[in-house]
This record gives sequence, C-alpha cells and structure tokens, in this order.
Amino acid sequence: MRKPFVAGNWKMHKTAAEAVALVEELKPLLADTTQVEVAVCPPYTSLVAVQQALAGSSIGLGAQNVHWEASGAFTGEISAEMLLTSGCKYAIIGHSERRQYFADTDETVNRKLTAALGAGMVPIVCVGETLEQREAGQIEAVVLGQLNGALQGIQAKDASRIVLAYEPVWAIGTGKTATSAQAEEVHALIRGRLKALYGPEVADAIRLQYGGSVKPDNAAELFAQPNIDGGLIGGAALKAEDFAAIVQAAG
Ligand code: PEP
Repeated sequence: MRKPFVAGNWKMHKTAAEAVALVEELKPLLADTTQVEVAVCPPYTSLVAVQQALAGSSIGLGAQNVHWEASGAFTGEISAEMLLTSGCKYAIIGHSERRQYFADTDETVNRKLTAALGAGMVPIVCVGETLEQREAGQIEAVVLGQLNGALQGIQAKDASRIVLAYEPVWAIGTGKTATSAQAEEVHALIRGRLKALYGPEVADAIRLQYGGSVKPDNAAELFAQPNIDGGLIGGAALKAEDFAAIVQAAG
C-alpha cells in the first residue's frame, strides 16, 4: 500500500518570518494527520527557520531544487548535503518553471536526481506536457521522454524512494485542473513505464503525485484515482486552511 503524499511548493513566496507564521498555522490543523505524508518546500532562505518551527511535528521539509555536485565553484547553487543538514528530506527536481526559466533539461534532472538519491534524500521529480504538446497529441512522447531521461542509470533499489509528480504545464497556476480522468490516464501511463523499467513491485511502491491547480474542492476526486497518490500543491499551499483541507482529502 502506498502512503499518500502531499507536498507544498511555496515557490518564491514568504520571508523567513512569514514562512514560520504559515507553519505555525498549519501545525495544529495537521496535528492528527497520520494517514498522509506531508511536506512543505519553502525557499532556501526559510529552510532553517522552518525546520526549527517544525520540530516535533510530522510535517517534513523539502527544497525546491538541488545541484548535482557535492561542492565546488557553482555560485548560487546548493548541494544535497547542504539541504540534508538544513533539515530537508525532500527535494523537488525538474519543476516545469525550472525547465522553462532556468534551463533544467532531462540530463540535468537526471544528474540532480542521482545526487539527491546518493545523499539519501527523497526526490520529487516533475514531468508534464505543455498545452501545445497536448494538443499535438504528444503527451505520451513528452511525459515518457522526460521520465526516461530522468531515470537514466537509476537502479531499481533506489527507484522506489523516488516520488514522481505529473504536472501538466497548462494546469500550473492557471486555475485549469486536469480532470481526474485526464490525470489518471497519464498516471497509469507512468506506472506502466515504471513497471517496464523496474518490475511490478518497485513500480507499485513509487508514489505518483498530481500537480496543477489542486484546490480543496477538486482534491478528493483527483486523489481517489487508483494511480494518484497525493499531490504537489502550489498556490493553495500558501493558505494553511486550503493546504490542510487538501491533505485531509488524501487521507
Ligand atoms: C506547482 O507549482 O507545482 C503547482 C502545482 O502549482 P499550482 O498548484 O499553483 O498550480
């Protein structure tokens, strides 16, 4: 049985003080949540403060990116070990905004994933097609292409630790959610590819999150699909009550 997993991607929002205030609001709302794994991914500048605020709670901490090298002359970058020692268990990798604005490619996603796994982190790897690609009938080619690229050289023993987030680019921050049927169709496709790569046992252990305008009123239907094991939440993760309601919908 896969434990549902809901993570909040706070993107470039919240100062450290605002991040702590949001976590303080969230903690009591999620105090009784045991059926769902929960994480928040604030900006780097808030990680340590949020780690301290989360002490004693079951909410995990994640980063929004990670570099593939352990250290070196990479101005502005952060390594997996730095994240781990700042309290991060999770790292989002290959978010479509990073692919679009910061030149993340399947190759760099693969290198980041390899580094995160090597450090013992739980990576959340994002894949998803643009509207243009969907309309051109390229969903399968794009999503499976990104998946194959990300997983190059990743062994079955490490693969079950990976979380994959299917995030159709046209649904991110737009208010346009994929229908539960559209989302499930792609999730089933991803599960099928994972089976082909790693066999049924590993494929069945990997959590597949859906992301793209998930809100309290559409979360339950999405999460009820057989291959949707929770969500990666952007905008709604910035409101404690909405995020808590989405977490509850996954339980
Ligand atoms: C995201 O950024 O990962 C995301 C899914 O955003 P939103 O929920 O705002 O669409």
